[in-house]
Amino acid sequence: MKTQRKPLETVRREGPLAARPRVGSQPKDHAPAVCPECGATYREGRWSWAAPVDGAIRRVCLACRRIDERRAGGYVTLAGPFLLAHRDEVLAVVRACEERQKTDHPLERVIAIEASGDDTVVTTTEPHLAHALALALHDAFKGEIRTTTGEGPLRASWRR
Ligand SMILES: [Zn+2]
Repeated sequence: MKTQRKPLETVRREGPLAARPRVGSQPKDHAPAVCPECGATYREGRWSWAAPVDGAIRRVCLACRRIDERRAGGYVTLAGPFLLAHRDEVLAVVRACEERQKTDHPLERVIAIEASGDDTVVTTTEPHLAHALALALHDAFKGEIRTTTGEGPLRASWRR
């Protein structure tokens, strides 16, 4: 039995779809920038704490915008009797972890640390930081961590 092969189709990469710029890739978004609120600088696709280049435009970074609007990218709920007895030590680990992450990734920041009954809720600008905080607490004190991903902000918890 003979099978007839269809001739291979040529994939066309031209046309309006290929020409359309991706979201966020407008020339303005690529220009070197400095955030007037925190001093982070944007160059060649990433934010850092480097000094701004000559001619950098002023543009509020996403972290400062999220902090201003209190629009969290992640939540970590801290709970349990160990937390109640050692809250200062636990929050010192949270702060140290934020500092470490923020050094290389300026958009990763803690928005707020707030008491909610016996629990403490830490809100972060980015989901990654919420996850990193939960892991840092587990590394430091053991306990139990949970992470829920899906639509919207990342929700993590640490209990001990
Ligand atoms: Zn900023």
